[in-house]
This record gives sequence, structure tokens and C-alpha cells, in this order.
Amino acid sequence: MRLVLVGPPGSGKGTQAKRLIKSLGLTYIGTGDILRESIRQKTAVGREAEPLLKLGLLVPDPMVNDMVAELFRSAKRPERFVLDGYPRTVAQAVSFDALMRQEYLRLDAVINLAIDDEEVVSRISFRRVCSSPTCGAPYHLNAQPPKVAGVCDLCGAALICREDDLEETVRRRLVEFHKSTDALLDHYERQGLVRNIPALGSSESIFQTILKSLPPEPGPRLV
Ligand code: AMP
Repeated sequence: MRLVLVGPPGSGKGTQAKRLIKSLGLTYIGTGDILRESIRQKTAVGREAEPLLKLGLLVPDPMVNDMVAELFRSAKRPERFVLDGYPRTVAQAVSFDALMRQEYLRLDAVINLAIDDEEVVSRISFRRVCSSPTCGAPYHLNAQPPKVAGVCDLCGAALICREDDLEETVRRRLVEFHKSTDALLDHYERQGLVRNIPALGSSESIFQTILKSLPPEPGPRLV
């Protein structure tokens, strides 16, 4: 199975990616993770990408296109995978389509975790993290509240709202998300690949809906 996973912050994309990897045995490809690793290793790409990531801006298309192409042309080429965070623009999708053709691979589906912007804002407003830099445990005021309000269960430090999770920041990220993603989905819609999955309800029921939307995988040849 070869999948692209699309969804705004707060859609549960990370959780569904993990479930897909585990249940279908897919390789996870997250361009955000690859970029953060390049920054940690202080490579040339990492040095160029660092200020952009800090500002929450997209890195240039050729940079991620080259990174992904290098991965698919390497000995570690993933055969069955879930892509998270790539392609993010139509230019990236066009480049990835060409790469797939060159590698004789075919995408099976683009999973779009669809959720209303207001629902995202409301969900994220319940998130808190421990303020201790050595702990940083995550909480959710509804789903996973701390035992004592405002205090970390693990280390006793105060809980805070991450800057990324402030309403103003979330709304800005949603605008950015729609700016590139709406056209990206149109691109894949024309190829008949988009599966719109409502990202509401339990993570298990969302996962089951995703599984049902996928085409059957060809089994191993018996002859
Ligand atoms: P993510 O972990 O997917 O949220 O990505 C973190 C950051 O990495 C983004 O805010 C961008 O700065 C950068 N990034 C990751 N993937 C891409 C991409 N496909 N195109 C451009 N920038 C990207």
C-alpha cells in the first residue's frame, strides 16, 4: 500500500499514521522529521531549513523534492509507505508523480482527514504541556486531564499552552494549510485518489473508516 496522508494540525494525523504503519506494516516517511534530523546533524540542507522551520514557513519545493527523490533512489527505497507532510504543494505533487513513474511505483490513495476549522480550534484549545523543559508531558483537558488542575502529574511543574497551540497561531496555520492543500487535493482528485475521511469520533472508528476506503492490496503471486 502506498499512501499520502493529509490533514490539518489537530486532525489526529500523527495517530492515524502510527496505526497505519503498525497494522499494514508500512514505512513512515515524514519530511518534517527528515528536516529536523538534518538540522540536528547541521547538514547544508539543515542549515538552510532551520530558520524557515522556526518561522513555521514551508521550505522551498526543490529542497524537499530532492530529499524525497534521494530516498526513493537509494538502496533503502521504500516499497510500501505512508507519506506524512509531503507533497504539500501542487509543484511537489507534480515532482512526486514523476518520481513514482520513474521508479515504476503507483500511489494507491490520498487520505484526507477532513475536519472543520472551528473544530480544530476548539480541540487544540484543550491541549496543555508541562512547562518543565526536561519533562514536557502532554495533557488534554477533556481526554487526558491532569489529576490536579494546572499541575503536571509526573513532575509537579505548571501546565502551559504551547505557543503553537494559541488560537491566533492555530488560525494562522489553518490559513496556510488551506492555501496549499486545497489545490493539492484538486490535483489528486483528478487522479481519483482522494479518500475524504471525516476526522470525527474515536481514533479507532476513524481508522476503520480509513481501512474500508483503501483499495485491496494485491496478494503474493502463488505461481
Ligand atoms: P511537519 O512536521 O510536517 O509539521 O513539518 C515541520 C516543518 O517542516 C514545516 O512547518 C515546514 O517548515 C517543513 N516541511 C515539512 N515538510 C515540508 C514540505 N513538504 N514542504 C515544505 N516544507 C516542509
